[in-house]
Amino acid sequence: MLKLFNTLTRALEDLRPLAGSHVGLYTCGPTVYNYAHIGNLRTYVFEDVLKRTLRHNGLDVLHVMNITDVGHLTDDADSGEDKIETGARREGKSAWDIAEYYTLAFQRDIAKLNIIEPNIWCRATEHIPEQIALVQTLIDKGYTYTTEDGIYFDTAKDPGYGQLAQLQKQSLKAGARVEMGQKRRLHDFALWKFTPAGEKRQMEWLAFGRPGFPGWHIECSAMSMKYLGEQFDIHCGGVDHIAVHHTNEIAQSEAATGLKPWVRYWLHGEFLNIAETKMAKSGENFITLATLEEKGFSPLSYRYFLLQAHYRKQLGFSWEALRAAQTGLENLRREVRRIPPDSLTPPSLKRDWLDALNDDLNTPAALALLWSALKEKQITLNTVITFDKVLGLDLHQPEEAPAIIPSEVQKLLDQRAAARARKNWDESDRLRAEIAASGYLVEDGSEGQAVRKAK
Ligand code: AMP
Ligand code: ZN
Repeated sequence: MLKLFNTLTRALEDLRPLAGSHVGLYTCGPTVYNYAHIGNLRTYVFEDVLKRTLRHNGLDVLHVMNITDVGHLTDDADSGEDKIETGARREGKSAWDIAEYYTLAFQRDIAKLNIIEPNIWCRATEHIPEQIALVQTLIDKGYTYTTEDGIYFDTAKDPGYGQLAQLQKQSLKAGARVEMGQKRRLHDFALWKFTPAGEKRQMEWLAFGRPGFPGWHIECSAMSMKYLGEQFDIHCGGVDHIAVHHTNEIAQSEAATGLKPWVRYWLHGEFLNIAETKMAKSGENFITLATLEEKGFSPLSYRYFLLQAHYRKQLGFSWEALRAAQTGLENLRREVRRIPPDSLTPPSLKRDWLDALNDDLNTPAALALLWSALKEKQITLNTVITFDKVLGLDLHQPEEAPAIIPSEVQKLLDQRAAARARKNWDESDRLRAEIAASGYLVEDGSEGQAVRKAK
């Protein structure tokens, strides 16, 4: 039985889908005003492992992911500017072009990480009528009030508000500055915002008698219910979504339908940190997948790095750890190439493997099982291929023909080998980047540097 940690109950629970073997899965997608950073990508890799594990259990998953291309304001609450419009100004492009550009960049990134695409992609700007209808339902049911700048959800009307975040157990820190605007209560939130008088936004729609645009939370409620029904199985995101975004999604969805619980299992991935702080889309520690590739790391090395940690534990990023992961993955693939043709898989291995994954997606334990089975030659290639359907690491790779290496690249390789012998890792990384810039990827295995042509 698959057990997952449900944020709603703070407990490990058996997964019991609403409709037999069919699972409805909604994962909050990117806000497309910039590239995804590798912290964001950690969340999408966790969700991908979840989806692959559901499939490994014989479940049929309908996966929906949104693209937030309007309405996400810079402070995550109800003030500040729309992130897409800010991105448009920063780059001197239209808001529509910004959203399109970064949506495609995101889709390329996740493909490189072997993240399986959702069955349905949905853009907020393509579902405006659904969002307006949902706001209208909430107005009709008396859950809202209108201020000068928008239509707000009145949390006083919802006695269950904040269960997901256990808000009743938390008190606001003394002295915390809160932007209240015309909100009546701290936790009230915008369902729909009006374009400020005298302004013209690039993205705005006429509704409720004025030009305006949807709040970020209403997007996810409207689109998930459109494709997965008024109640569905699993909803995911990063831990930062618990307190506001997901709490508000629950409040408005349950108020609109009168059905509880809206979603049965809430799963949240922990943060990737760098130098002890959360990685964010602004600031110095903004590392993208392209940054890794420029330094000669393959995207799947990053995936392997992530799978070595449990998704509910914070994970610290460092170049050393990524380098170790790249070597680890290369070694794993070499072990797979060396599987003897007459090897066998003991039935206990498949059972233990499923138990590890079904224990709240324990990928570190699953990888440890794979490693020891390979070392003991107690696994067949077919089993590795089956396991890799969950890991997504392209473990079965035929031996590559040795690359023909131009002499200037060979010179850099020799310098790098010398730097490594001196344990000068900075110099070794610098040379790796230089080699990558010449179109070659270098990986460190137990037999020294392996080099191949970048694809
Ligand atoms: P955004 O594009 O800002 O809406 O974020 C996309 C996803 O990345 C959300 O599910 C966030 O919760 C998640 N996220 C943001 N920062 C991090 C981080 N440092 N580590 C892991 N996930 C993150
Ligand atoms: Zn969402």
